[in-house]
Amino acid sequence: MNICPFCSSSGSTLIYGYLACPLHPWVPKTTPIISNLFGDINLVKCNTCNHVYNKSFQQSQACDMYQCMTLTNIPVNEEMIQSNMFVVNFIKPYLPKNSIAAEIGGGYGVLSRALARFVKSVDFYEPSTAINIESFPEDNIFFIPGMFQQASKQYDLVVMKQVLEHIPNFYEVLSEIVKSLNKDGLLYIEVPNLDYILKGRSIVDVHYPHIHYFNGSFLRLVFDQLSLSILKWDYLKNSHDICFLLIKKNLDSSNNITRGTPSRDNCEGSIIANNFSSTYDNGVENLESLAKCTFSLYGANAYSQSFLSQFSEYTSNLLTIYDDSPIGLDKCAYNHLSKFDVIAPNKSFVFNEKAIIITAYLHDLHISRKLRQHGFAGKIYTVRPFLDSPGLSDLVSIFHPKVHTPFADS
Ligand SMILES: [Zn+2]
Repeated sequence: MNICPFCSSSGSTLIYGYLACPLHPWVPKTTPIISNLFGDINLVKCNTCNHVYNKSFQQSQACDMYQCMTLTNIPVNEEMIQSNMFVVNFIKPYLPKNSIAAEIGGGYGVLSRALARFVKSVDFYEPSTAINIESFPEDNIFFIPGMFQQASKQYDLVVMKQVLEHIPNFYEVLSEIVKSLNKDGLLYIEVPNLDYILKGRSIVDVHYPHIHYFNGSFLRLVFDQLSLSILKWDYLKNSHDICFLLIKKNLDSSNNITRGTPSRDNCEGSIIANNFSSTYDNGVENLESLAKCTFSLYGANAYSQSFLSQFSEYTSNLLTIYDDSPIGLDKCAYNHLSKFDVIAPNKSFVFNEKAIIITAYLHDLHISRKLRQHGFAGKIYTVRPFLDSPGLSDLVSIFHPKVHTPFADS
């Protein structure tokens, strides 16, 4: 990506970068680990419009990545099921009767199935070849394999949950989606919140599957540009994510914003770069203190992809990666040095490791409780930003600054 995917200008400032991030949270054990299973991170901020994106993202990899994408959104706990119901309840008061809806990039279609109870029909667009029509017993869900390309049908509602950040030409695709909306059509968008990542200095939230990093002020600019009005918005998961319910404005009320107008975000790239590198340094210090003991990760997902590549030097004592998702069996995660078995914990909780680092950090409290219930007595870390620490002595951020006192290790 040589130019900004939003305003097309070429000037940008480097925020953070690292090499060889795995493209997938796991692959089948027999897969040879070759260079095209990795991508580089070169996170920049556009000097013109402030958009933050991975300049090293290879567009040619996008299709490949999503077709054979190992979907990670199978709900494995009550919290994840509730998050889909949250979306339905968020939209429901505004939903006209007998709505024609579409969900774009819905993974396993759990949200579409929840939505299907309240609308006439749902067109479900999903590029992953892991999905097929038999996945849906409902007769009002129509599976359309592949990515949403251009408007060919009109909808009363389009839903994009955690999808926009993955689409290389996100603005063009959004424009087509707006064209496909009926008058007063609704659009639900949910993305990770860049402001949370910056505030928490959360370097594991920077990984290859995400091309774009959005915050509220930038998205408001994008929505204005597309003649979308905000009906309501909210933060989710302790402001890790942000969601909007938008309505298509009448075209004659469109305004004069030009593409490339800077968003109201003036956090300097150099400050962000410093913050991120201090998080990295803290991670290194804590991992060095683990150098002589074995440890495992919990959660094979984008955060473990990020962790395994950024801290690859510290993975020689990494035993295994636990993951609750049933499709993780007979799979392995990887970095450029090694492969790591992915194990379903309910099958074999033997605990040969001295420490566990929870990489599924949005569920870290739930997971740490479960580990203790199963008798794990070692140290439990989370990759949650230390600034967003849950405040439990039992669960420590791996990015927490190490305390240098003579009593610290007593
Ligand atoms: Zn730009």
